[in-house]
Amino acid sequence: MLKLIMFLIVFVSSLSRSSANFLEQNPGNLNVEIQSQNFEDDYEWLHKYQYDLTYASKKFQNFHVVTSEAGLKFLSKRFKINQVSLKENFLMMAPDGDYQSPDDVNQWANELAKLYPEFVHLESIGKSLEGRDLWAIRISDDQDANPNEPSVIFNALHHAREVMTVEVIMDIATWILENHTNNDQAEKWLKSLQIYLIPMVNPDGSNKVWTGNSMWRKNVRDGHGVDINRNYPYKWNTCNGSSSSTYAQDYRGPSAASEPETQVMMAFIKKAKPSFSISFHSYGEMVIYPFGCRDNRTPPEMGVEKMGKEMAATIGYSPGTSWELLYDVDGGDIDWLFAEAGVIPFVIEVSPRTDGFQPSFAKRDPLVTKVRSAWQYLLGRFDRAGINVSSSKSGRLEILKKQNVRWKTVYSVSTNEQLKFYPLESGNYKIKFRALSSDTESKNVVETFQIKDNTTVKYHF
Ligand SMILES: [Zn+2]
Repeated sequence: MLKLIMFLIVFVSSLSRSSANFLEQNPGNLNVEIQSQNFEDDYEWLHKYQYDLTYASKKFQNFHVVTSEAGLKFLSKRFKINQVSLKENFLMMAPDGDYQSPDDVNQWANELAKLYPEFVHLESIGKSLEGRDLWAIRISDDQDANPNEPSVIFNALHHAREVMTVEVIMDIATWILENHTNNDQAEKWLKSLQIYLIPMVNPDGSNKVWTGNSMWRKNVRDGHGVDINRNYPYKWNTCNGSSSSTYAQDYRGPSAASEPETQVMMAFIKKAKPSFSISFHSYGEMVIYPFGCRDNRTPPEMGVEKMGKEMAATIGYSPGTSWELLYDVDGGDIDWLFAEAGVIPFVIEVSPRTDGFQPSFAKRDPLVTKVRSAWQYLLGRFDRAGINVSSSKSGRLEILKKQNVRWKTVYSVSTNEQLKFYPLESGNYKIKFRALSSDTESKNVVETFQIKDNTTVKYHF
Protein backbone atom coordinates (compact mmCIF):
# COMPACT_ATOMS: atom_id res chain seq x y z
CA MET A 1 0.00 0.00 0.00
CA LEU A 2 2.76 2.39 1.01
CA LYS A 3 4.57 1.56 -2.20
CA LEU A 4 1.47 2.33 -4.20
CA ILE A 5 1.07 5.69 -2.49
CA MET A 6 4.73 6.48 -3.10
CA PHE A 7 4.33 5.51 -6.73
CA LEU A 8 1.28 7.76 -7.09
CA ILE A 9 3.08 10.72 -5.53
CA VAL A 10 6.04 10.28 -7.86
CA PHE A 11 3.73 9.79 -10.84
CA VAL A 12 1.59 12.86 -10.08
CA SER A 13 4.56 15.13 -9.42
CA SER A 14 6.30 14.00 -12.61
CA LEU A 15 3.08 14.56 -14.53
CA SER A 16 2.72 18.12 -13.32
CA ARG A 17 6.39 18.79 -13.92
CA SER A 18 6.26 17.51 -17.46
CA SER A 19 3.10 19.51 -18.13
CA ALA A 20 4.82 22.66 -16.92
CA ASN A 21 7.86 21.92 -19.09
CA PHE A 22 5.66 21.27 -22.06
CA LEU A 23 3.96 24.63 -21.58
CA GLU A 24 7.28 26.40 -21.36
CA GLN A 25 8.51 25.00 -24.63
CA ASN A 26 5.33 25.11 -26.71
CA PRO A 27 3.64 28.45 -26.43
CA GLY A 28 0.95 27.29 -28.85
CA ASN A 29 -1.53 29.03 -31.07
CA LEU A 30 -4.81 28.78 -29.20
CA ASN A 31 -6.47 31.76 -27.60
CA VAL A 32 -8.60 30.39 -24.77
CA GLU A 33 -11.21 32.14 -22.64
CA ILE A 34 -11.81 30.57 -19.24
CA GLN A 35 -14.78 31.17 -16.98
CA SER A 36 -13.59 31.15 -13.38
CA GLN A 37 -15.45 29.95 -10.31
CA ASN A 38 -12.84 31.03 -7.81
CA PHE A 39 -10.81 33.86 -9.30
CA GLU A 40 -7.94 33.94 -6.81
CA ASP A 41 -7.34 30.19 -6.65
CA ASP A 42 -7.59 29.95 -10.40
CA TYR A 43 -5.13 32.79 -10.86
CA GLU A 44 -2.68 31.03 -8.50
CA TRP A 45 -3.04 27.83 -10.49
CA LEU A 46 -2.53 29.49 -13.89
CA HIS A 47 0.44 31.39 -12.50
CA LYS A 48 1.94 28.21 -11.03
CA TYR A 49 1.80 26.45 -14.41
CA GLN A 50 3.13 29.55 -16.14
CA TYR A 51 0.29 29.95 -18.58
CA ASP A 52 0.58 33.02 -20.77
CA LEU A 53 -2.16 35.03 -19.15
CA THR A 54 -3.14 37.70 -21.65
CA TYR A 55 -6.19 39.11 -19.85
CA ALA A 56 -7.83 38.80 -16.46
CA SER A 57 -10.93 40.38 -14.98
CA LYS A 58 -12.19 39.96 -11.45
CA LYS A 59 -15.33 41.75 -12.51
CA PHE A 60 -16.19 39.29 -15.28
CA GLN A 61 -14.49 36.38 -13.45
CA ASN A 62 -12.57 35.32 -16.49
CA PHE A 63 -9.15 34.87 -18.01
CA HIS A 64 -7.66 34.72 -21.48
CA VAL A 65 -4.62 32.52 -22.06
CA VAL A 66 -2.61 31.68 -25.16
CA THR A 67 -1.62 28.03 -25.15
CA SER A 68 -1.00 24.81 -27.11
CA GLU A 69 -3.20 21.71 -27.63
CA ALA A 70 -1.48 20.04 -24.69
CA GLY A 71 -1.91 23.15 -22.60
CA LEU A 72 -5.61 23.26 -23.47
CA LYS A 73 -6.02 19.61 -22.49
CA PHE A 74 -4.41 20.29 -19.12
CA LEU A 75 -6.61 23.39 -18.68
CA SER A 76 -9.85 21.57 -19.47
CA LYS A 77 -9.27 19.20 -16.54
CA ARG A 78 -9.75 22.16 -14.23
CA PHE A 79 -11.89 24.67 -16.12
CA LYS A 80 -15.00 25.06 -18.13
CA ILE A 81 -13.66 26.49 -21.38
CA ASN A 82 -15.76 29.31 -22.83
CA GLN A 83 -14.20 29.87 -26.14
CA VAL A 84 -11.23 28.71 -28.17
CA SER A 85 -10.13 30.59 -31.22
CA LEU A 86 -7.53 29.06 -33.50
CA LYS A 87 -5.63 31.39 -35.70
CA GLU A 88 -3.58 29.91 -38.51
CA ASN A 89 0.06 30.33 -37.45
CA PHE A 90 -1.15 32.62 -34.71
CA LEU A 91 2.29 33.07 -33.20
CA MET A 92 4.11 33.39 -36.48
CA MET A 93 1.72 35.97 -37.84
CA ALA A 94 2.88 39.59 -37.69
CA PRO A 95 0.34 42.19 -36.55
CA ASP A 96 -1.51 44.41 -39.04
CA GLY A 97 1.33 46.03 -41.00
CA ASP A 98 0.07 49.55 -40.32
CA TYR A 99 1.13 49.35 -36.65
CA GLN A 100 4.60 50.55 -35.68
CA SER A 101 7.92 48.69 -35.69
CA PRO A 102 10.95 50.25 -33.94
CA ASP A 103 12.14 51.64 -37.32
CA ASP A 104 8.70 53.12 -37.99
CA VAL A 105 8.72 54.92 -34.64
CA ASN A 106 12.21 56.22 -35.28
CA GLN A 107 11.17 57.55 -38.69
CA TRP A 108 7.91 59.03 -37.40
CA ALA A 109 9.62 60.85 -34.53
CA ASN A 110 12.27 62.31 -36.83
CA GLU A 111 9.68 63.48 -39.36
CA LEU A 112 7.60 65.05 -36.60
CA ALA A 113 10.68 66.94 -35.35
CA LYS A 114 11.27 68.25 -38.90
CA LEU A 115 7.64 69.25 -39.33
CA TYR A 116 7.38 71.11 -36.00
CA PRO A 117 10.94 72.19 -35.16
CA GLU A 118 9.73 74.80 -32.66
CA PHE A 119 7.66 72.37 -30.61
CA VAL A 120 9.11 68.87 -31.04
CA HIS A 121 12.35 68.11 -29.23
CA LEU A 122 13.61 64.63 -29.88
CA GLU A 123 16.14 62.88 -27.68
CA SER A 124 17.50 59.35 -27.35
CA ILE A 125 17.34 58.72 -23.60
CA GLY A 126 19.34 55.50 -23.71
CA LYS A 127 19.70 52.12 -25.36
CA SER A 128 17.90 48.82 -25.11
CA LEU A 129 19.70 45.55 -24.50
CA GLU A 130 20.26 45.08 -28.26
CA GLY A 131 21.35 48.69 -28.68
CA ARG A 132 18.16 50.27 -30.01
CA ASP A 133 17.39 53.85 -29.02
CA LEU A 134 14.65 54.62 -26.53
CA TRP A 135 13.21 57.88 -27.84
CA ALA A 136 11.69 60.67 -25.79
CA ILE A 137 9.82 63.47 -27.51
CA ARG A 138 9.39 66.68 -25.54
CA ILE A 139 6.40 68.70 -26.75
CA SER A 140 6.77 72.31 -25.65
CA ASP A 141 7.27 75.82 -26.99
CA ASP A 142 10.55 76.01 -25.04
CA GLN A 143 13.68 75.21 -27.01
CA ASP A 144 15.34 73.75 -23.90
CA ALA A 145 13.61 71.90 -21.08
CA ASN A 146 12.03 74.61 -18.91
CA PRO A 147 12.37 73.98 -15.16
CA ASN A 148 9.72 76.64 -14.43
CA GLU A 149 6.96 74.57 -15.99
CA PRO A 150 5.55 71.33 -14.63
CA SER A 151 6.19 68.18 -16.65
CA VAL A 152 4.23 65.05 -17.46
CA ILE A 153 5.27 61.74 -19.04
CA PHE A 154 3.25 59.43 -21.26
CA ASN A 155 4.88 56.12 -22.22
CA ALA A 156 3.92 53.00 -24.16
CA LEU A 157 5.02 49.48 -25.00
CA HIS A 158 6.63 48.19 -21.83
CA HIS A 159 5.06 45.02 -23.26
CA ALA A 160 6.05 44.35 -26.86
CA ARG A 161 2.80 42.85 -28.18
CA GLU A 162 0.61 45.76 -27.04
CA VAL A 163 0.88 47.55 -30.40
CA MET A 164 -2.12 49.86 -29.92
CA THR A 165 -0.38 51.71 -27.09
CA VAL A 166 2.20 53.24 -29.46
CA GLU A 167 -0.68 54.66 -31.50
CA VAL A 168 -2.03 56.43 -28.41
CA ILE A 169 1.31 58.17 -27.83
CA MET A 170 1.50 59.21 -31.50
CA ASP A 171 -2.03 60.57 -31.27
CA ILE A 172 -1.18 62.68 -28.19
CA ALA A 173 1.63 64.33 -30.15
CA THR A 174 -0.30 64.91 -33.35
CA TRP A 175 -3.48 66.09 -31.61
CA ILE A 176 -1.65 68.81 -29.65
CA LEU A 177 0.52 69.88 -32.59
CA GLU A 178 -2.28 69.95 -35.14
CA ASN A 179 -4.73 71.76 -32.86
CA HIS A 180 -2.64 74.37 -31.08
CA THR A 181 -3.73 77.13 -33.48
CA ASN A 182 -7.45 76.43 -33.17
CA ASN A 183 -7.88 74.91 -29.71
CA ASP A 184 -7.22 76.94 -26.54
CA GLN A 185 -6.36 73.91 -24.46
CA ALA A 186 -3.84 72.58 -26.96
CA GLU A 187 -2.22 76.01 -27.15
CA LYS A 188 -2.12 76.33 -23.37
CA TRP A 189 -0.55 72.89 -22.86
CA LEU A 190 2.10 73.61 -25.48
CA LYS A 191 2.96 76.88 -23.76
CA SER A 192 2.67 75.96 -20.08
CA LEU A 193 3.90 72.36 -19.80
CA GLN A 194 6.79 70.07 -20.67
CA ILE A 195 5.06 67.04 -22.18
CA TYR A 196 7.34 64.02 -22.56
CA LEU A 197 6.32 61.12 -24.78
CA ILE A 198 8.14 57.78 -24.83
CA PRO A 199 6.47 55.83 -27.64
CA MET A 200 8.37 52.55 -27.21
CA VAL A 201 9.95 51.45 -23.92
CA ASN A 202 10.70 47.97 -25.32
CA PRO A 203 11.97 48.25 -28.93
CA ASP A 204 13.80 44.88 -28.84
CA GLY A 205 10.60 43.07 -27.87
CA SER A 206 8.79 44.98 -30.60
CA ASN A 207 11.35 43.80 -33.13
CA LYS A 208 10.60 40.24 -32.06
CA VAL A 209 6.87 40.86 -32.54
CA TRP A 210 7.58 41.93 -36.13
CA THR A 211 10.06 39.16 -36.93
CA GLY A 212 8.39 35.97 -35.83
CA ASN A 213 6.50 36.03 -32.54
CA SER A 214 3.53 38.36 -32.45
CA MET A 215 2.72 37.30 -28.86
CA TRP A 216 6.10 38.40 -27.45
CA ARG A 217 5.74 40.48 -24.23
CA LYS A 218 9.10 40.81 -22.45
CA ASN A 219 12.45 42.26 -23.49
CA VAL A 220 14.88 39.83 -25.17
CA ARG A 221 17.30 39.00 -22.32
CA ASP A 222 19.02 35.63 -22.93
CA GLY A 223 16.32 34.46 -25.33
CA HIS A 224 13.66 34.13 -22.61
CA GLY A 225 13.27 37.82 -21.79
CA VAL A 226 12.48 39.78 -18.64
CA ASP A 227 9.15 41.50 -17.98
CA ILE A 228 10.30 45.13 -17.73
CA ASN A 229 7.14 45.96 -15.82
CA ARG A 230 8.05 43.56 -13.01
CA ASN A 231 11.65 44.75 -12.88
CA TYR A 232 11.31 48.16 -11.14
CA PRO A 233 13.02 48.18 -7.74
CA TYR A 234 10.28 49.34 -5.37
CA LYS A 235 9.12 46.25 -3.44
CA TRP A 236 10.58 44.08 -6.19
CA ASN A 237 9.71 40.41 -5.59
CA THR A 238 7.79 40.99 -2.35
CA CYS A 239 4.15 39.93 -2.79
CA ASN A 240 4.10 37.00 -5.22
CA GLY A 241 3.25 39.54 -7.92
CA SER A 242 5.80 38.29 -10.45
CA SER A 243 7.63 35.08 -11.33
CA SER A 244 11.12 33.72 -10.69
CA SER A 245 10.86 31.39 -13.69
CA THR A 246 12.66 32.65 -16.77
CA TYR A 247 9.94 31.18 -19.01
CA ALA A 248 7.08 32.95 -17.25
CA GLN A 249 5.55 35.97 -18.97
CA ASP A 250 5.97 37.95 -15.73
CA TYR A 251 9.58 36.93 -15.06
CA ARG A 252 10.93 39.67 -12.84
CA GLY A 253 14.62 39.35 -13.80
CA PRO A 254 17.60 38.21 -11.70
CA SER A 255 17.66 41.38 -9.57
CA ALA A 256 15.79 44.66 -9.16
CA ALA A 257 16.32 47.03 -12.11
CA SER A 258 18.58 44.48 -13.82
CA GLU A 259 17.39 45.49 -17.29
CA PRO A 260 18.73 48.42 -19.35
CA GLU A 261 15.22 49.50 -20.36
CA THR A 262 14.20 49.78 -16.69
CA GLN A 263 17.37 51.72 -15.88
CA VAL A 264 16.87 54.11 -18.80
CA MET A 265 13.29 54.85 -17.72
CA MET A 266 14.31 55.42 -14.09
CA ALA A 267 17.17 57.76 -14.98
CA PHE A 268 14.98 59.73 -17.35
CA ILE A 269 12.15 60.11 -14.84
CA LYS A 270 14.59 61.32 -12.20
CA LYS A 271 15.78 63.96 -14.66
CA ALA A 272 12.40 65.06 -16.02
CA LYS A 273 10.69 65.01 -12.57
CA PRO A 274 7.14 64.76 -13.87
CA SER A 275 4.13 65.58 -11.72
CA PHE A 276 1.98 62.95 -13.43
CA SER A 277 2.45 59.99 -15.73
CA ILE A 278 0.44 57.48 -17.72
CA SER A 279 1.90 54.14 -18.86
CA PHE A 280 -0.25 52.77 -21.67
CA HIS A 281 -0.85 49.03 -21.86
CA SER A 282 -3.43 46.81 -23.54
CA TYR A 283 -6.00 45.34 -23.16
CA GLY A 284 -9.03 45.33 -20.86
CA GLU A 285 -10.41 48.91 -20.49
CA MET A 286 -9.01 49.70 -17.05
CA VAL A 287 -7.38 52.65 -15.28
CA ILE A 288 -4.94 51.34 -12.66
CA TYR A 289 -3.29 53.27 -9.84
CA PRO A 290 -0.78 52.25 -7.12
CA PHE A 291 -0.14 50.05 -5.24
CA GLY A 292 0.26 46.60 -6.78
CA CYS A 293 0.45 44.53 -3.59
CA ARG A 294 -2.68 43.51 -1.76
CA ASP A 295 -4.31 46.00 0.62
CA ASN A 296 -1.77 48.72 -0.15
CA ARG A 297 -3.24 52.09 -1.11
CA THR A 298 -2.03 55.62 -1.69
CA PRO A 299 -3.00 58.13 1.07
CA PRO A 300 -6.56 59.36 0.35
CA GLU A 301 -5.57 63.01 1.06
CA MET A 302 -3.47 62.99 -2.11
CA GLY A 303 -6.49 62.18 -4.21
CA VAL A 304 -4.70 59.69 -6.49
CA GLU A 305 -7.61 57.25 -6.53
CA LYS A 306 -10.08 60.11 -6.99
CA MET A 307 -8.16 61.30 -10.04
CA GLY A 308 -7.97 57.75 -11.39
CA LYS A 309 -11.70 57.31 -10.98
CA GLU A 310 -12.48 60.63 -12.65
CA MET A 311 -10.11 59.81 -15.49
CA ALA A 312 -11.65 56.35 -15.96
CA ALA A 313 -15.15 57.86 -16.00
CA THR A 314 -14.24 60.07 -18.99
CA ILE A 315 -13.83 56.94 -21.15
CA GLY A 316 -16.05 54.42 -19.36
CA TYR A 317 -13.15 52.26 -18.11
CA SER A 318 -12.96 50.44 -14.75
CA PRO A 319 -10.75 52.13 -12.12
CA GLY A 320 -8.82 50.35 -9.36
CA THR A 321 -5.52 49.06 -8.05
CA SER A 322 -4.16 46.01 -9.85
CA TRP A 323 -4.99 43.81 -6.85
CA GLU A 324 -8.60 45.02 -6.98
CA LEU A 325 -9.04 44.59 -10.73
CA LEU A 326 -6.62 41.75 -11.56
CA TYR A 327 -4.07 40.24 -9.16
CA ASP A 328 -1.03 41.30 -7.12
CA VAL A 329 1.77 42.95 -9.07
CA ASP A 330 5.26 43.70 -7.74
CA GLY A 331 8.05 45.53 -9.55
CA GLY A 332 5.60 47.52 -11.70
CA ASP A 333 6.56 51.03 -12.80
CA ILE A 334 3.71 52.90 -11.10
CA ASP A 335 4.67 51.75 -7.59
CA TRP A 336 8.24 52.95 -8.08
CA LEU A 337 7.06 56.19 -9.71
CA PHE A 338 4.81 56.98 -6.78
CA ALA A 339 6.96 55.82 -3.86
CA GLU A 340 10.43 56.71 -5.05
CA ALA A 341 10.07 59.36 -7.75
CA GLY A 342 7.22 61.43 -6.25
CA VAL A 343 5.05 61.08 -9.36
CA ILE A 344 1.28 60.54 -9.47
CA PRO A 345 1.18 57.67 -11.95
CA PHE A 346 -1.48 55.68 -13.78
CA VAL A 347 -1.66 52.68 -16.08
CA ILE A 348 -4.35 52.69 -18.75
CA GLU A 349 -5.18 49.31 -20.31
CA VAL A 350 -6.64 50.41 -23.64
CA SER A 351 -8.90 48.34 -25.96
CA PRO A 352 -11.85 46.10 -25.11
CA ARG A 353 -11.27 42.43 -24.31
CA THR A 354 -12.84 41.44 -27.60
CA ASP A 355 -10.02 43.21 -29.50
CA GLY A 356 -7.02 41.47 -27.94
CA PHE A 357 -3.45 42.68 -28.45
CA GLN A 358 -3.41 43.17 -32.18
CA PRO A 359 -6.73 44.32 -33.55
CA SER A 360 -7.12 45.26 -37.17
CA PHE A 361 -5.79 48.76 -37.87
CA ALA A 362 -9.37 49.86 -38.59
CA LYS A 363 -9.86 49.92 -34.81
CA ARG A 364 -7.03 52.39 -34.35
CA ASP A 365 -8.72 55.75 -35.03
CA PRO A 366 -11.85 55.13 -32.93
CA LEU A 367 -9.69 53.87 -30.05
CA VAL A 368 -7.21 56.74 -29.92
CA THR A 369 -10.06 59.23 -30.30
CA LYS A 370 -11.87 57.71 -27.34
CA VAL A 371 -8.76 57.65 -25.13
CA ARG A 372 -8.11 61.39 -25.71
CA SER A 373 -10.59 62.29 -22.95
CA ALA A 374 -8.44 60.43 -20.40
CA TRP A 375 -5.04 62.03 -21.09
CA GLN A 376 -6.72 65.39 -21.67
CA TYR A 377 -8.33 65.06 -18.24
CA LEU A 378 -4.85 64.61 -16.76
CA LEU A 379 -3.39 67.61 -18.63
CA GLY A 380 -6.44 69.64 -17.58
CA ARG A 381 -5.73 68.76 -13.95
CA PHE A 382 -2.76 71.17 -13.99
CA ASP A 383 -5.28 74.04 -14.20
CA ARG A 384 -7.40 72.89 -11.31
CA ALA A 385 -6.97 73.01 -7.51
CA GLY A 386 -3.38 72.56 -6.44
CA ILE A 387 -0.01 74.10 -5.82
CA ASN A 388 3.04 74.68 -8.02
CA VAL A 389 6.28 74.50 -6.04
CA SER A 390 9.89 75.02 -7.00
CA SER A 391 13.03 75.79 -5.06
CA SER A 392 16.47 77.09 -5.92
CA LYS A 393 18.08 74.62 -3.50
CA SER A 394 17.21 70.99 -3.05
CA GLY A 395 15.25 70.43 0.10
CA ARG A 396 12.42 68.76 1.87
CA LEU A 397 8.88 69.89 1.22
CA GLU A 398 5.87 69.17 3.36
CA ILE A 399 2.29 70.16 2.60
CA LEU A 400 -0.20 69.82 5.47
CA LYS A 401 -3.97 70.19 5.45
CA LYS A 402 -6.02 71.48 8.37
CA GLN A 403 -8.53 68.86 9.44
CA ASN A 404 -10.65 70.09 12.35
CA VAL A 405 -7.95 71.31 14.74
CA ARG A 406 -5.14 69.10 13.45
CA TRP A 407 -2.65 69.41 10.63
CA LYS A 408 -2.42 66.33 8.49
CA THR A 409 0.51 65.71 6.11
CA VAL A 410 -0.63 65.40 2.50
CA TYR A 411 2.77 65.48 0.77
CA SER A 412 6.22 64.92 2.16
CA VAL A 413 8.70 64.96 -0.71
CA SER A 414 12.10 66.18 -1.77
CA THR A 415 12.18 69.08 -4.18
CA ASN A 416 14.58 71.18 -6.23
CA GLU A 417 14.60 73.62 -9.12
CA GLN A 418 12.17 71.66 -11.30
CA LEU A 419 8.71 73.08 -10.70
CA LYS A 420 6.17 70.47 -9.70
CA PHE A 421 2.42 70.57 -9.45
CA TYR A 422 0.68 68.92 -6.48
CA PRO A 423 -3.08 68.50 -6.81
CA LEU A 424 -5.06 69.46 -3.69
CA GLU A 425 -8.68 69.62 -2.62
CA SER A 426 -10.30 72.81 -1.25
CA GLY A 427 -9.15 73.67 2.27
CA ASN A 428 -6.61 75.39 4.48
CA TYR A 429 -2.99 74.36 4.10
CA LYS A 430 0.45 74.92 5.49
CA ILE A 431 3.61 74.45 3.45
CA LYS A 432 7.05 73.82 5.01
CA PHE A 433 10.34 73.88 3.21
CA ARG A 434 13.73 72.97 4.62
CA ALA A 435 16.84 73.27 2.48
CA LEU A 436 19.13 70.26 2.57
CA SER A 437 22.42 71.96 3.28
CA SER A 438 25.00 72.15 6.01
CA ASP A 439 24.22 75.87 6.21
CA THR A 440 23.31 76.38 9.87
CA GLU A 441 21.26 79.46 9.01
CA SER A 442 18.84 77.51 6.81
CA LYS A 443 15.62 77.21 8.75
CA ASN A 444 12.21 75.90 8.03
CA VAL A 445 10.17 78.21 5.86
CA VAL A 446 6.50 77.94 6.72
CA GLU A 447 3.63 79.56 4.81
CA THR A 448 -0.09 79.09 5.02
CA PHE A 449 -2.48 79.25 2.09
CA GLN A 450 -6.01 78.42 1.10
CA ILE A 451 -7.30 76.39 -1.83
CA LYS A 452 -10.77 77.33 -2.97
CA ASP A 453 -12.62 75.79 -5.90
CA ASN A 454 -10.10 75.62 -8.71
CA THR A 455 -7.39 77.94 -7.51
CA THR A 456 -3.75 77.12 -8.08
CA VAL A 457 -1.12 78.63 -5.79
CA LYS A 458 2.56 79.06 -6.62
CA TYR A 459 5.58 79.00 -4.28
CA HIS A 460 9.26 79.33 -4.91
CA PHE A 461 11.65 78.69 -2.05
ZN1 LIG B 1 1.10 45.42 -20.60
